[in-house]
Amino acid sequence: MIRLQSYIGAAWRDGSGQGRAFGDPVTGEDIGIVDSTGLDMAEALSFARDKGGAALRAMSFADRGAILNAIADALLAKRAEYDDIARRNSGNTKRDAAIDIDGGIGTLKYYARLGKNLGDAKYLMEDGRDQLTKPGNFLVQHMWTSRPGVAVCINAYNFPSWGLWEKVAVAVLAGVPVFAKPASTSAWLSERMVRDAAQAGAIPEGVLSLICGRADGLLDAVTPFDHIAFTGSADTGAMIRSHAHVQSAAPRLNIEADSINCAILGESVAADSDVFNLIVREINGALTIKAGQLCTNIRRIFGPKALAAQLTDALAAKIDAIVSGNPANESVALGPLVNRSQQVAALEGLAKLKSETQVVRGGGAPEQLVDADPAKGAFLQPTLLSVGDGSNLKAIHETEVFGPVATVIPYGSMDEAIALAARGGGSLAASVWCEDGAEAACIAAGLGPFHGRVMCIDPEVGKGHTGHSIVMPQGVHGGPGRAGGGEELGGVRAVKHYMQRTAVQGSPSVLDGLAAQAATAFL
Ligand code: NAP
Repeated sequence: MIRLQSYIGAAWRDGSGQGRAFGDPVTGEDIGIVDSTGLDMAEALSFARDKGGAALRAMSFADRGAILNAIADALLAKRAEYDDIARRNSGNTKRDAAIDIDGGIGTLKYYARLGKNLGDAKYLMEDGRDQLTKPGNFLVQHMWTSRPGVAVCINAYNFPSWGLWEKVAVAVLAGVPVFAKPASTSAWLSERMVRDAAQAGAIPEGVLSLICGRADGLLDAVTPFDHIAFTGSADTGAMIRSHAHVQSAAPRLNIEADSINCAILGESVAADSDVFNLIVREINGALTIKAGQLCTNIRRIFGPKALAAQLTDALAAKIDAIVSGNPANESVALGPLVNRSQQVAALEGLAKLKSETQVVRGGGAPEQLVDADPAKGAFLQPTLLSVGDGSNLKAIHETEVFGPVATVIPYGSMDEAIALAARGGGSLAASVWCEDGAEAACIAAGLGPFHGRVMCIDPEVGKGHTGHSIVMPQGVHGGPGRAGGGEELGGVRAVKHYMQRTAVQGSPSVLDGLAAQAATAFL
């Protein structure tokens, strides 16, 4: 059995307890143990703050970017070994694994380039000054400097690579060391990647720590200049928000939680047109990629009343062709959920959805699989549900089934589609699929207050888009309300979460002196 270690105080350490087992979701067999019992969180955080923080604050953006680049190169050198871990521990197909692994490395490379472009400066000045008095010799300009804390980055199980590296990239570029805690059930890949980066000498002392296991006492050890960047379920997010020490120490807190995202097919689209076929392809992907375990995934599909039945039929035909089973078999497009307890949770959620929908395809655990035993694996059938009218229903707008499940909901007007989308209570991502760009723009504007990201596809974009579920580092990620109210990524905007904005009031020469040593950015 593999026993994962934690990387704290710049050394690999074992927990001293029994720990928790993690396994293979195809066979149900245990692979290893994850355990952080007895590791001193307060001491580990102090080391990261004192060593890693001081080192990063002394560096320029370009130097910090060079660290990210070195980590990315160390991971690329071992890239071939990661698919196997992702398959065995998370049930990933090659395509699933690529989204997580290459998405993480790509985000590191993106922020490495950004650091290089920001150059030799150690802090940022916002563009523009405002005059505060009539003569014009007293002005204000805003400066961003690195906060002297540590970024405690707690991640969900579905992205052991991307979830880790997208947070590391931003915090390190901002000059803040990272203390990462991956989800226990899939921490193996995170552990291996950090080990490879450390072995390659890419992690200066204290810049990145990793805790594998429950991390008891972690929340009690944070101090006011720290950050907690949490990604996971709404329930754990609520627990962290209400944690007594977190409330009194008041570190910065960013919550990325769950979300009932939607795709909207516009009224301008004709059945079997290119745009119609594009949305069908995208939803089919949503029902297979990572077995539907993406926080941004399409859960609700809004179709105009006149097209909803054709859309449902087209999706059903696609689902009939999905091959489920062991991802080691190359014909398989849909692997298992991450473990049996996630399967149980998904089935419970599905029962709620089924109480107010019709089942078009799937609806439970499969009876037949390629190269896998349904009695042992954590599989869920690709499931399409439909309703006649979504306006008076509750579960379809409020229950996240973290698996390959989506519901088709007809709408009568653009305003109704927007109102139904808003019933998700705040979401990470929506996509709008229209023949007419003006219609897409109207829907996007209506969706704005309820969504962190809106992807609009019209014939001008066609199939050359990045995907509904895929988070690109250039755009912000996060969503209002139920989605947690947090924000990550979005190019240089992201560093502000780890830096302090200070309004500097003074003469033009004082501000010129500051600006001369700063990188200028629009934040
Ligand atoms: P989860 O059960 O909420 O766990 C998330 C993380 O919190 C894990 O690392 C977990 O560690 C940790 N945690 C739990 N209790 C803790 C405590 N007392 N102190 C410190 N850490 C603690 O979520 P999950 O099941 O891993 O992930 C699935 C959910 O995440 C879905 O609802 C999905 O929508 C959401 N998600 C959201 C986003 C986004 O960007 N908004 C992205 C991905 C996933 P252990 O594993 O050790 O318990």
